[in-house]
Order: sequence, then structure tokens, then C-alpha cells
Amino acid sequence: MDAEQLRENAHKMVDFIADYYKTIESFPVLSQVEPGYLRNLLPDSAPNRPESLQTVLNDIQAKILPGVTHWQSPNFFAYYPSNSSVAGFLGEMLSAGLSIVGFSWITSPAATELEMIVLDWLAKLLKLPDEFLSSGQGGGVIQGTASEAVLVVLLAARDNVLRKVGNNGLEKLVVYASNQTHSALQKACQIGGIHPENCRLLKTDSSTNYSLSPDALNDAISHDLAVGLIPFFLCATVGTTSSTAVDPLLVLGEIAKNNGIWFHVDAAYAGSACICPEYRHYINGVEGADSFNMNAHKWFLTNFDCSLLWVKDKNALIQSLSTNPEFLKNKASQANMVVDYKDWQIPLGRRFRSLKLWMVLRLYGLENLQCYIRNHIKLAKLFEELVAEDPRFEVVTPRIFSLVCFRLLPPNNKGEKGNELNRDLLDIVNSTGKIFMSHTVLSGKYILRFAVGAPLTEERHVNEAWELIQDKASPLLKIS
Ligand code: PLP
Repeated sequence: MDAEQLRENAHKMVDFIADYYKTIESFPVLSQVEPGYLRNLLPDSAPNRPESLQTVLNDIQAKILPGVTHWQSPNFFAYYPSNSSVAGFLGEMLSAGLSIVGFSWITSPAATELEMIVLDWLAKLLKLPDEFLSSGQGGGVIQGTASEAVLVVLLAARDNVLRKVGNNGLEKLVVYASNQTHSALQKACQIGGIHPENCRLLKTDSSTNYSLSPDALNDAISHDLAVGLIPFFLCATVGTTSSTAVDPLLVLGEIAKNNGIWFHVDAAYAGSACICPEYRHYINGVEGADSFNMNAHKWFLTNFDCSLLWVKDKNALIQSLSTNPEFLKNKASQANMVVDYKDWQIPLGRRFRSLKLWMVLRLYGLENLQCYIRNHIKLAKLFEELVAEDPRFEVVTPRIFSLVCFRLLPPNNKGEKGNELNRDLLDIVNSTGKIFMSHTVLSGKYILRFAVGAPLTEERHVNEAWELIQDKASPLLKIS
């Protein structure tokens, strides 16, 4: 690493990225390339001799950017957002600059200690119970994704039980969640060796806005206990991926407690909103949870990846995930004086991810972050009102945060045709490249998801998106 070469090239790269953001609205939001497009554009093998940065930048402009879907575009309304910001970017840059690998405290004490402090800060902003703070038995850790977060707590919960009942009990362990829970839970069960038939994804419907019914949970647990199975893990969601359903944490937590079940709360997307006092009630009941996760990289201005996980009992994680090879031994770890985050996660190596979250919190401050969330929710409300005003459309589930689930009503209410119609509408709208939305299916109905949350989105983008959707719907209704 030559410092002067870095200075010169990094300036050029920052200019390139700044220009990208300046012109981001000129790109089709959803990449329009065909599968395999890049192989025809790039050579078969790596170059023998060095090339100039400018040559590479030219290729990025001409060959890579066409194959990029622009998640930071103000017209990106698909999935859930994945935020970037100046502070997040600078933190990411610094992390790349220092390029440490902070698996144990000794490998960069600041990385571990800053992570503990920043996770405590955020736990306080979210008003999480004190048991999640690092001062006691609990604490927070940054994982790469929510999928890793749910996997590690599932493993911890599994091993807690197996220590009591013996490894033969694995076949009997049962996991509970609603059928709206992110597929990350199913993957965690697969990896964790949970018998495929013992992952209970309980049915939900529109009568509870697709939230998990405590009665259904109680029934399932009673049935499983009666046949000798062992209920051990409950995953509730605040802000489900399809429709932002909120599971009733208070009641679910009591059921979990009464049955000795590990209670995990996944607030990957909606957790960010809970820094605003008016939305905090959606996680009421988190007090009864054993673990809680929220993705700062979704809707908290922190560049991917930064998934926050808190646990009340760090030892449960450590007992499942720690290893202690000779080549990593050091005085601080041996004396149990420090946190070694390698024992809280799957990989050994870990990046200095707390820097970007720390920078976001410091450079924006709570008040600005709250305004940011409120503005997106206001824009989503505007979109919801626009949909509601047009009798050709319906809002399918009540909007809670910044996602609107809606559909074009089929003429004469022909249910079958409704799905085709909405699939066609989505394809046509997305193929314009002007906006990008995604879909889900609820109660057999194909539904369009309009998720507001890109940092650059303003009211004009929402209005223009709605005009485009209306514009593309009209001819479809004529031919259907
Ligand atoms: N949980 C919820 C509620 C989500 O919405 C998502 C992704 O959108 C996930 C988990 C998975 O997130 P990740 O990609 O961080 O694993």
C-alpha cells in the first residue's frame, strides 16, 4: 500500500462515486441486462500486466453499471431498503483503510470495545431492557445479516436444551414462528439440524393482519408436548417481510416463558422505526425476549452489512460457538477479561463494522435519524392515500411503517385474473426502468409492495411513481 498512490487513486474513486450519485436517476433502477451479459464483455483471463485505474473506471462505466440494480436510487421501492449515507460510507472507507481483522479483543481492542459501546448506545435508543446491555450477562454484537443473527441464537437455544436432555433429543426439538417469518429461520433450522417436520410455521390470515396468533401457538405447543416433543425456540417478527405484520410480543413472550422456550424477536426492517417514541410500542414485550435483532443496513443509514443482535445471556452464544485453538491464545482472553467476538458468530474473521454505525450516530444524531424515519413513513402514507383514492386499486393490508401493500383490482373481481393482472403490471412498470417495486403473495393474492426507504427519495419520486403505475394500469384493464 503506497500512501501517495492511495491518496491519488482514492480521490479519483470518490469523484467517480460522487458523480454516480449525482446521475443516479439517469440509470434504469432495475438492471435490464440478460443473464450472462458480462461474459461477452470481459476477457477470458486476468491481465498479465497492470492496467490504469482510468481504464478500469471506463469499464465500470460501460460494462458494470449496466448490470447494476440501483438500490440507492430514489426510485427504488422494492424489497426493503438497504441504506447508504455519507457517514456510513465514510465509516466503511475507514474500515477498509484500517483493514483489521477483529476476531479477538487483542487483534484490535478498539474494534471490540467500540462495538460494545455502540451496541449499548443503540440498545438505549431503542429502550431495550437493561439485560441486553454489555454491563451484565448480555450484550450486543454486529453480525453480517439477520440470517446469521437468527442462526446463532437458534444454535445457542438448541445447545441449552441439548445440554439438559442429551444429544439424542435433537430429533425432538421444535421451532415455532408464523408462516410470515423470513425464510432465514428455515435456513437456520436446516443448518441447526432441526428435523424438517419440527419447524412449525403457523398459519396466519387477514383477520390478524398476518400476525402470529397466540392461540395457534398455544395449541401447537400443547400438541407437541402431548406427543413427547420438546418446544425450544420461538421467533416473532416485528415488521414481516411480506407486509410488515407485527406479532404480539407481550403475549408470545409469556407463552415462551411458561414453556421454557427461547424467545427471539426479529425486527430486521422495522426495528429502526422504534427509535421514535411514537413507534417504540411496536416492540413492547421485547422485555420478555432472550434475543433481538435489527438491521442497521436496512433503514438506518448504515451501509451494508451491519445487522445488530442483542442477547440477554452471552454465555449461551459462547458455549455454542467458542473454540480455543493454541494459535489464538493470549493473556487477555485466557484471563477472561475481554469479549472475543469470534465466539459470538460463525466465522472467525470480522471487519471493523462498528465504525460506520458509530459515524452514523455521531454525524447525524438521534433527532435527524428520527426525522429521517418519519419522513419515509410520511411518504408511504402519501402513497397509501393516492392508492386509496383510485377505485381501480386496493390497499391490501393496513400500512404500519413505510411499506404499502396494494393491488390492481381485476375487472368484475375475477380473482384468478387478478394475480395475472398484477404480475403483468409489475413486469411492465419495472421494465420501464423508471422505478423498481417487488411483490408478495398473501392469502393466494399477488400483491405489489411499495417500500419507501431509499435515502434520496422525495415526495416528487413517490408522486411520479404513482403516476407511472396508474398510467401502465389503464391499458392493462382495457385488455383484461
Ligand atoms: N428478517 C426480516 C423481517 C427481513 O425482512 C429480512 C430481509 O428482508 C431478513 C430477516 C433477512 O435479512 P438478511 O438479508 O440480513 O439476512
